[in-house]
Amino acid sequence: MIPPPFQYYAPTSMSEALSLLQQHGAESKLMAGGQSLIPLMKLRLASPNHLIDLQKVPGLTTLEERDGALVIGAMVREATLEHSPLVRQRYPGIVEASEVVADPVVRNFATLGGNLAHADPANDHPAMMLALRAQMVAIGPRGQRRISVDDFLVDTFETSLAPDEVLVEIHVPQPAPHSGSAYVKFERKVGDYAVAAVAAQVTMNGDVCAQAGLALTNVGPRSLRAGAAQQFLIGKRLDDQTIREAARLAGDAAEPTSDLRGPAEYKRAVVRALTARALRKAAQRATGGAN
Ligand SMILES: Cc1cc2nc3c(=O)[nH]c(=O)nc-3n(C[C@H](O)[C@H](O)[C@H](O)COP(=O)(O)OP(=O)(O)OC[C@H]3O[C@@H](n4cnc5c(N)ncnc54)[C@H](O)[C@@H]3O)c2cc1C
Repeated sequence: MIPPPFQYYAPTSMSEALSLLQQHGAESKLMAGGQSLIPLMKLRLASPNHLIDLQKVPGLTTLEERDGALVIGAMVREATLEHSPLVRQRYPGIVEASEVVADPVVRNFATLGGNLAHADPANDHPAMMLALRAQMVAIGPRGQRRISVDDFLVDTFETSLAPDEVLVEIHVPQPAPHSGSAYVKFERKVGDYAVAAVAAQVTMNGDVCAQAGLALTNVGPRSLRAGAAQQFLIGKRLDDQTIREAARLAGDAAEPTSDLRGPAEYKRAVVRALTARALRKAAQRATGGAN
């Protein structure tokens, strides 16, 4: 399929990108890697008259630890996250989420910012960002603002970004000592969207859990935080019984619908199994165990 005609812009500064957004308003769309937007345009589910490509806008590819956070520029590609020694060593959950996005060709183009701004409940990064309690940094004509990932993800394909704002950075708090993260996805075949997936982050204090982040992919209208399961884990030893109960609570937090990936009850059972796996993996990492 061929998309309807559109005007293409490649601004070379953020101010130019912002003024194009203001000028063309609802008729325009930002493009990052194009891996979600272009297919939608080809299917004529999106038909912007003005396409504003962010590729030449400088300052959107930062990837460094700064001021207590891993700062990821919105245009950092999946492939970069996947192969970054810093991310591999300190944020294995992010690497695991990147590695299961589509295929290597898509990952060479697709960006973290695009994955989050698209707000597809089937996308893999939003849940990992919920578990890690990330903050989004957006810029617009009224200046810069920070948005917690919980407030950023509003609904299916909907974020709290204003139409004239650009997501510029994602800030992931640096892990406290004895922390570990993991992302576990179940898919019908390699490269597919998840039947369900679970993101976990735990911080241990001795053998008890001091902090936990748990979130779910593709079992609701948006990526979901499993709040009751998180709360249940605090102050407990992560033994089999605790993990089983947290998995049950995470299953209860899921809001799956029956579709071509399976019936709702099956997906809830998958969430329970994946929660147990993700928690065990994150806890092993937190206590210096095997990867
Ligand atoms: C075959 C295939 C399989 C896939 N499988 C998976 C999968 O398993 N898991 C998964 O997570 N994803 C999957 N994807 C989606 C892929 O990761 C997308 O690329 C990603 O969701 C969007 O990233 P992008 O950089 O390509 O964004 P684009 O497609 O360029 O943009 C997506 C949306 O975000 C907006 N946007 C982009 N950047 C910004 C910004 N900085 N500020 C404000 N708005 C912005 C755009 O306007 C657009 O509405 C798949 C894609 C394909 C083609």
